[in-house]
Parts: sequence; C-alpha cells; structure tokens
Amino acid sequence: MSAQDYFHQGDRVAVLTAQPLDRLLDYRAPEGGCFRGAFVEVPLGPRKVLGVVWGAGGGGFDSAKLRSVIRVLDVAPMREEMRQFLGKAADYTLTPMSAMLRLATRAPGLSDPPSMRKVLRLGDKDPDRMTDARTKVLAVMEEFGGLAFTPKELADMADVTPSVVKGLVKQGALREEETPRDLPYPNLDPERPSKVLTEDQARAAAILAQGVESGAYGTTLLKGVTGSGKTEVYLEAVASCLRKGRQALVLLPEIALTAEFLKRVEQRFGATPAEWHSGATMTERRRVWRMVGQGNAQLVIGARSALFLPFRDLGLIIVDEEHDTSYKQEEGVLYNARDMSVLRAAMCSAQVVLASATPSLETWVNAEAGKYRRVDLNARFGTAVLPTMKAVDMRAEDLPAATWISPTLKAAMQERIERGEQSLLFLNRRGFAPVTICRACGSQVACDNCDARMVEHRFMKRLMCHQCGETKPVPTICPSCQVEGKMAPVGPGIERLGEEAAALFPEARIAVLSSDLFGSARALKARIEEIAAGEADIILGTQLVAKGHNFPLLTLVGVIDADLGLQGSDLRAGERTFQLMRQVAGRAGRAERPGEALLQTFQPEHPVIRAILTGDEEEFWRAEAEQRREAGVPPYGRMAGIILSGSDLAQVFDLGNALARNDGPLRQVGAQLFGPAPAPIARVRGRHRARLLVKAAKGVALQEALARWTAQFKMKGDLRLSIDIDPQNFF
Ligand code: ADP
Ligand code: ZN
Repeated sequence: MSAQDYFHQGDRVAVLTAQPLDRLLDYRAPEGGCFRGAFVEVPLGPRKVLGVVWGAGGGGFDSAKLRSVIRVLDVAPMREEMRQFLGKAADYTLTPMSAMLRLATRAPGLSDPPSMRKVLRLGDKDPDRMTDARTKVLAVMEEFGGLAFTPKELADMADVTPSVVKGLVKQGALREEETPRDLPYPNLDPERPSKVLTEDQARAAAILAQGVESGAYGTTLLKGVTGSGKTEVYLEAVASCLRKGRQALVLLPEIALTAEFLKRVEQRFGATPAEWHSGATMTERRRVWRMVGQGNAQLVIGARSALFLPFRDLGLIIVDEEHDTSYKQEEGVLYNARDMSVLRAAMCSAQVVLASATPSLETWVNAEAGKYRRVDLNARFGTAVLPTMKAVDMRAEDLPAATWISPTLKAAMQERIERGEQSLLFLNRRGFAPVTICRACGSQVACDNCDARMVEHRFMKRLMCHQCGETKPVPTICPSCQVEGKMAPVGPGIERLGEEAAALFPEARIAVLSSDLFGSARALKARIEEIAAGEADIILGTQLVAKGHNFPLLTLVGVIDADLGLQGSDLRAGERTFQLMRQVAGRAGRAERPGEALLQTFQPEHPVIRAILTGDEEEFWRAEAEQRREAGVPPYGRMAGIILSGSDLAQVFDLGNALARNDGPLRQVGAQLFGPAPAPIARVRGRHRARLLVKAAKGVALQEALARWTAQFKMKGDLRLSIDIDPQNFF
C-alpha cells in the first residue's frame, strides 16, 4: 500500500462532501487514521455531513483552524475505480463532484452504525378472529414468502395501523426476531439448469459468455426481434459472470417490468437478486447499497441510478431496451445511463450488453463502426412469428366526430373478442383530452405557472399540467369570456379512448393502463399480471405498454395515431416513432397465435411509416444515419443544450444574449452557437426558459470549451444555467 493511500491520525486529508461547494475541504485524519476512499463524517459549520476521503489535503488553509474527521463509517471504502468513474462522469456531464457524490450515496442511514433490528415473520398460531385489516397483513406476509419486515414496513405495505400489526404479534400470528439490519443476499446458483437454447440463442450466449470470461472491457449490441429470447440469452452471460465470482447489474427501463424479471431470475438461479429503484423501501435500498459494496449481492436489478452503486467487482452490465428514453435522466445530473454504463465498464474491465429490438441510432452506428460487437437474433422463439403490420389509411375511413377508432380497427377488434383473444389500443397521451376549449370564445385552458395547456383527467375530475403537476377543477364558466356551459374537451387522451371503446363494445372487459391511473407501482404490477392472465379483452395503454410486457392472449395491436410522434422538429422524431411503433406492434402474437398490428395514419407514404410497415430495419437505420451525417448532428457531430431559467424574463434573455456575444471559447474550437430562443415550453413552474444550442464536430473537446465559456458569467439572483450534453429532448 503506497503512503498516499493511508493517512495517519492528524494528517491533512481532502474530503469530498455532497454539499454544493465547488471544492474539497481539508480535515485532519481521525484517531486510528483512515484510508483514501473512506466514507467519513465531518463537521461543517454546526452540522455533521457525509464525505469521502479523496486524497492528501491541499494545504492553503490555516492548519491551526483545521478540524478533525469525526469518524470513519462502517461501510466499504469507495474504490479507486469508482472515484475515477465519478470524476469522468462529472467531466463528461459538466456536473460538480458534490452532485456526483449525492448520486452515489442515495441510500438512507449510511452513517448509522450497523445494528440489530426487530423484524416480524409469520408465526405458527392463527389469530383468534380475522378482520379485514388482519387479512391484509397476513396476505402481505404470504406474498413475500420467507421475508421478514419491520413492524412499520409491514403496516405501510398492508396499509393498516401499527396497532393491527401489534395485535397479530400478541396473538402469535406474527413472531418477532432480532436480525442484523442488513443481511447478505441469498446465493445465486449459475449451475442450475437453464432453458435449452436454440442454435441461434446458444451462439449468441456463447459470444457474450466469451466476453465475460475475458475479464476485459467490451460492449456488445444484442439485437433481437421482440420475443426472440434476448433475456434468456443475456441471463447466460450473467451466469458466466457469477461463475467468475464477479457481480452483474441488469438495468431495466421501467420498474413495472421488474416483477416478471425477478421471477425469471429466480427460476434460473434459484433465488431473487437485489432490487434498486424508487419503488424499493428505504431499508431495502440501504441493504442493497451496503451489500453491493461488500460483495454480498451478486446481481442487482435496477433503474438507471443503480449504475452509481459501489460494486466491489462489477463484471457485467446489461442495459435492457437500451434505446429507451428513460435511461436519460432529465433532472438534476443530466446523464444517459446507457453511455455511462459503457464508461463505468471501461473503468472496471467489465462487459456491457446493450439489448434491444430497435437499438438507438447511436448504438447501431457504433456497431457498424466496429466499436461494439453485434449479435443478432432474427426469429421469435418457438412457433411465435412476428406480427403482420398494416396501415389503416385514415383519409379513407368514415368516423363520427370526436371518435378515433376506425371501422377497420373496430372490425379487427370484434374478431378478437369473438375468438377470446386480446386487443391492445396504443395512444401515447395520458388523461382524457389534451385540450379544453371554450366553444364561445375559442380560448384554451392553460396552466397559470407554465406555458402549457392543461390536460383533462376525468378520472381525477380535474385538469392537470403535465409540466408542473398543478391541477384545477374543470371550469364550467370560461375563464376568458365568462360564458357558461361552453367548455369542451378536444382531442383524445387514453381515458377518452377508453370511453369510446366501452361504447363500441359494451360487453367487453376494458383495462386502461396509464401510469397516472395507479396509486403505486405495486398496484400497476398487479394489474399487469391480471391482464397477462387474460382478465381483459381490450387493453388501452400509453407508452408504458410498449415496454417488454408479455400478454400471451394479445393478437391485435391498434395504433390510434401513428403520426403523433412525427410532428415535432426533434432530430430523433423519426427514430423514436420507428422504435415505438415496432415495440408496440411487438406486443402482439408472442405466444402460439399470430399477431397483427394496424397503424392508423393520415400519411401512409411517409418514409418512416413505410419503414415501419415493411420492417426493413437496416435500410431505415442506414437512411437515418445518412441524414444525420449530412446534417452533422449526433452521432456524427456533438451537441449540447443550454437551458437558462429564472423568474425574470428580461434577465433570462440578458444572460442568453451575453452568452451569445461572448462565445469566443466556443469559436476557438470551431463550435457553432444557436440562440438564445424561448424554449418550446417557455415557462415552467413560473420560471421563464430560454435555450441555446451548441453544435460541434465529432472530435472536439466540447466540455472544456463549454466550461470556459460559461465560467465567464456569475448567476445572479435566481437565474439558473444547466448544460445538457447530448440532449435527447428539446423542450
Ligand atoms: P425478448 O427478451 O427477446 O423479448 P424473451 O427472452 O422474453 O424475449 O423470450 C420470449 C419468450 O420466449 C419468453 O416467455 C421466454 O421464456 C421464451 N423463450 C425464449 N427462449 C426460450 C428457450 N430457449 N426455451 C424456452 N423458452 C424460451
Ligand atoms: Zn404547469
């Protein structure tokens, strides 16, 4: 161990804290000394805060005033590679290190000493009498089998008062136990039998396994049509990783998908892995964080932020549905988990598998260029075949006013109902109607805080702003002209489509799946399982249903408005529509019965719609890539979005104009600046927003130039400037 990795009591150490300061703070090493990377508690003013020993102290600060580290926390120190990863990710995204550390320590109670806690398990006695509340508690215990919960967790999960739980303990229906707060995860066994892979699958699995066994960095695009068995294949890569004694991480784009996935992991490896996402309890999050650091969690299934967990020896990262836009974090630290996975893997000699039926253009181009390996699965597993895709030319359909289901689509749904099969209608719009208009004066109801129209949610009986979440009652009197009884919904949302479907098929069982209609991830999960088991004839869904759910009885997918995504000026509009339509269509015919997808469109000759219908994917990507190359935009050029916001419109634009006038650092590297312009949503939560866009050639060190450019300005008052490298959205 080199001298710099250990600090004796009293040595000067530099500590990174999660406080919004732009520098390290010097302290004295505590009694007993400390290692570089140690998690510590340090005094900051009157408070105690969490920090990491980053290296030797820098001096410059009066050593007489230097305070001492309070204590070293009992968690695994941050590894060298993690410190490097955070540093590189910070440089890439132009994020302060303090914010990176916050991302890397998002578990509660890290500074609590390890301790014992009281947990409850099922007891062996029956309660004297059953009540609804008691039934709920016992049902939760049954659902989670052998797991134990704290009394509070149990009461919360069962949605009962703590006294109900106490009562059950007294009766012996639950028994108390003392356990260490955080237990290791059960062992996963890679030697349990896997499914018998097809020849194609086995070949793909072998290539991935080879990568894992090399113990070196590498990225592979696993491109397989929906239902081809990508999951089965990458689980074999996980098995190789476990055999090597290294840890694996599987990122999923949607927490509603984890339930099904956990079951598959359990079938394959004999135990459930660690879970990391916003739906996990606080206790669970802390346990994952600690166990990952000690090497006592072999596999983590998580959302994008799982990438910042302190793995002891990460050997494999799977990014499932790698094209999914939810991998881009759009608030706080603006990072793309897909790209950061590749960075992290490169730092710790791990393999990355990017799995998708419709990869992002970036990934497709990297594979073409030979930077990523590429493995293809071209057929669905078993007898399942890909759905046939047809356009419904809406110009030729005869629809009554304010309806959206064409006669052609209706007839196809009728057939499914008669055969006992399911239909899915896809419309990527939450709520009842996107616009509420006054038929007397023509004005639309807008949000008071944002430059956005309010969306009617009939289920909540309110209008809601999708930017800030503000709601208000649906007005009966027009707020503009005061005329009564003329307010009317315009256009369809998923709830309104539900009403239309119910009117067309009064006997059918209809399920509306939209994230805002469910109180919790658990409730949504439960509903999805019911539907998969056949408890619905017609499913209506937003984007949510495009993502990986398996509904065996589903044989028809109707896309209500295939043109919806093609309207914007977003450079990825074509790519996104292509991906989304192919993914949604891929929900149909995943079991024995063949599927069909009908796309309602007013422009069946549009090149993107044609590419979706013919399924000539390679041709589509080649054409998209060519267009982007010509325009010099990602992945053939670099881009950064600058978002300025503040409560004072003039100040926001003054800053924007000053940035534009002083663009020397950008010009030096040949970058072009556009703007300032009002952002497409020019006001959010009462704050005015302006955007600038920076474009540069591919090899340019853009971050450095951006940093020098923006450093010329101090943010006055409540002005904010945020930089979005490789922006995915332009709102
Ligand atoms: P993808 O991830 O490509 O959409 P999945 O891995 O979910 O595909 O596979 C689709 C379905 O086919 C799943 O129900 C899966 O269990 C089944 N399946 C795939 N490959 C096999 C296999 N080799 N043996 C048995 N079942 C398989
Ligand atoms: Zn709003």
